[in-house]
Amino acid sequence: MLEDIMRRHILTLESYTSARDEFSGEAEVYLDANENWKDFSSQGKNRYPDPHTIRLRRMIEKVLGFKVENTVIGNGSDELIDMLIRIFAEPGKDSILIERPTYGEYKVFAEINGVDVLDVPLTDDLDLDVEGIKRAIDEKRPKIIFICSPNNPTGQSYDIEKIKAIADYNPCLTVVDEAYADFDPSFISSYTLLRENERVAVLRTFSKYWALAGSRIGVLIASPLVIKAVNKIKAPYNVSLSAQEDGCDALERADERKAVLEEILSEKKRLEEELKRFSFVKRVYHSDANFILIKVDNADELYSYLMNHGIIVRNRSREPLLENSLRITVGSRRENEKLLEALSEREKGLIS
Ligand code: PMP
Repeated sequence: MLEDIMRRHILTLESYTSARDEFSGEAEVYLDANENWKDFSSQGKNRYPDPHTIRLRRMIEKVLGFKVENTVIGNGSDELIDMLIRIFAEPGKDSILIERPTYGEYKVFAEINGVDVLDVPLTDDLDLDVEGIKRAIDEKRPKIIFICSPNNPTGQSYDIEKIKAIADYNPCLTVVDEAYADFDPSFISSYTLLRENERVAVLRTFSKYWALAGSRIGVLIASPLVIKAVNKIKAPYNVSLSAQEDGCDALERADERKAVLEEILSEKKRLEEELKRFSFVKRVYHSDANFILIKVDNADELYSYLMNHGIIVRNRSREPLLENSLRITVGSRRENEKLLEALSEREKGLIS
């Protein structure tokens, strides 16, 4: 039962009720929220936004298929990661499980919250160690298992059957972070597992494919009990009016994103081919996301070289299994061309 794995006091917590909770209908005069009556923006920004982000969640159901009763919106998915840890893991007592190398925030948020972090590293071919994870479940019973698919920074998606095997075995919550899923047209979301397993939750973000990193919109898709718990602990107005409108606008114009996706995918393919040609690039990893991980002869040196040419990539060499690795976001045609030009220059410098 989900209630049994949540922190006791969250279940009994009486949460804050905002003015918009107490009255959510239409009225002529609003004198209930101590807002300023004057709308300098002419866009209603003098008023608090909808704490339940209903319009955005309805649009998400319509366009992405995630049912309204299964969603809650966060101030980016980072906020949702933090809230999930706070709902399930008792500080000084419980743990979460991650599979490094992976997105760094699961560990940081756990540590901020005084929650232990168990790491079952990926296998040498950067896949999930299902048996290792099952052993850790038996031994330590982590409250949340975070699985990032497609994984950041490696770029590859995991087999949904492996995720299912872990989620079915795990008596606690399994959160699949699908921040980059929209870049893989053949991706099968773990949302499909939620129907049979209420302990599965999925994270999506508008920061990548939807090109709204600045608006801060993250989506948690989970069973209604988890959604209820998040609604209990979240700040009432965690998603701004502008963010809610930006999200709806993006979904209304989904075709435009699709067109850019085609460009990103063809540029990714081109970059993968081109990167392989450089003698200092030892390996180009398969990617289901909008970035490419490469192994090079000397990542620190190449990182500085690119920086000096005004090109910033991410040096992931300090991560386990990723010695001498750089993560490169697929940019526009022009940006990618600049990167390739700089790399070609370096290759020439090495040869001459
Ligand atoms: N999950 C993953 C895997 C990410 O890479 C990122 C951002 N880099 C996030 C979550 C956080 O995204 P948001 O902007 O929605 O907070």
